[in-house]
Amino acid sequence: MQKICLLGATGSIGRSTLDVIAQYPDQFELVSVAANASVERMAEICRTFKPKRAVMGSAQARDELAALCADLDTQFEYGSAAMESIASDDCDQVMAAIMGFAGLRPTLAGIRAGKRVLLANKESLVTAGRLFMEEVAKHNVTLMPIDSEHNAIFQCLPQNEAGATKRDVDKILLTASGGPFRTFSPEQMRSVTPAQACAHPNWSMGQKISVDSASLMNKGLELIEACWLFDVTPADVQVVVHPESIVHSMVSFKDGSVIAQMGNPDMKIPIAYGMTWPARIETGVEALDFFKVAQLNFEAPDLERFPNLKLASDAWYLGGTAMACLNAANEVAVDAFLKEQISFLDIARLNQRVLERSEIKAVNDLEAVFAADQASRLLAQQLIASEFA
Ligand code: NAD
Ligand code: MG
Repeated sequence: MQKICLLGATGSIGRSTLDVIAQYPDQFELVSVAANASVERMAEICRTFKPKRAVMGSAQARDELAALCADLDTQFEYGSAAMESIASDDCDQVMAAIMGFAGLRPTLAGIRAGKRVLLANKESLVTAGRLFMEEVAKHNVTLMPIDSEHNAIFQCLPQNEAGATKRDVDKILLTASGGPFRTFSPEQMRSVTPAQACAHPNWSMGQKISVDSASLMNKGLELIEACWLFDVTPADVQVVVHPESIVHSMVSFKDGSVIAQMGNPDMKIPIAYGMTWPARIETGVEALDFFKVAQLNFEAPDLERFPNLKLASDAWYLGGTAMACLNAANEVAVDAFLKEQISFLDIARLNQRVLERSEIKAVNDLEAVFAADQASRLLAQQLIASEFA
């Protein structure tokens, strides 16, 4: 029996994780959950899974949840410290599926407590990069990439022999759907709405990652994520636009072989693999029907229409706090776009301005990451008020 702590339980990844847990009640036990504000959804989860501890983002949300679930034995708590506490409490695996930078502290808590960490929350790895990976090594943690591309790359890389990766791999081929605006002209992109940006052609996901997919910032974050996870640089990674989202990524080897991981686009596949690796279980996802798929297409990314991808690579080479600055700018920009305060094309413009204007510092401790995040958020908000409104 594996005891699971689920951070971000009410979200899209949270839902898919609960689906896998529910299919295997004799293998997985949900012992703790955390979410920000969705009280009613959390109440449903508590009723169904009866976790020992449930943490909300605010005292008010905790109180509302406690009132809805007064008959349960679950302990209701709130705040970041409580989220860190459940991630390091009695459990075997921590699913890190909080959205954004807010996931960093609880994810690190799980790592420091030596849990198997299932990483969906890419922003935490992107912002804290080296420190994050050092903690993983220090605590001898199994870090399972849940992002479908990175889970695919993990499956394609040789795991049989230490050192084989660096020696034999020519390139990592990181696939991207291209999002809903893949074929849009700059003119068409100027007036797209949040609803259009959130309507991803292949995946059903949270709003923030959906907008990131539309602006290709998601692929930028994933490029950085791949560099940290697999100890490579952006020069070792080729982004390949693949509109069908059937190939979830590939690894090209020096002998000319390319290994791809494929499947229908459903996050239950990487989630279940993360939970059971090196074993596999049935997930309920339909097997791939190649006759139905019929065609797979591939094209190069357009960095002019989608400058975020280039910005992410720039941030990697700038190093230090640059990635935290870019991520913070993007979180503010996406939020402002969703509230219709800035336009879709402003997202990349704002990201670029913040990256150019931020003072990049070395990351010697976590405080440097938090300071950079704070400063860039502030700068982004000021720019929105002064130049983008
Ligand atoms: P979502 O918006 O659907 O859910 C986010 C979850 O995080 C919710 O439970 C919410 O309550 C919680 N949350 C948000 N802010 C919080 C805060 N300040 N404190 C505590 N909890 C907070 O998002 P999602 O699509 O499930 O994505 C979650 C993470 O997984 C993101 O980092 C995303 O990039 C990554 N991811 C998602 C997918 C996907 O298919 N949805 C795929 C790959 C990676
Ligand atoms: Mg992904």
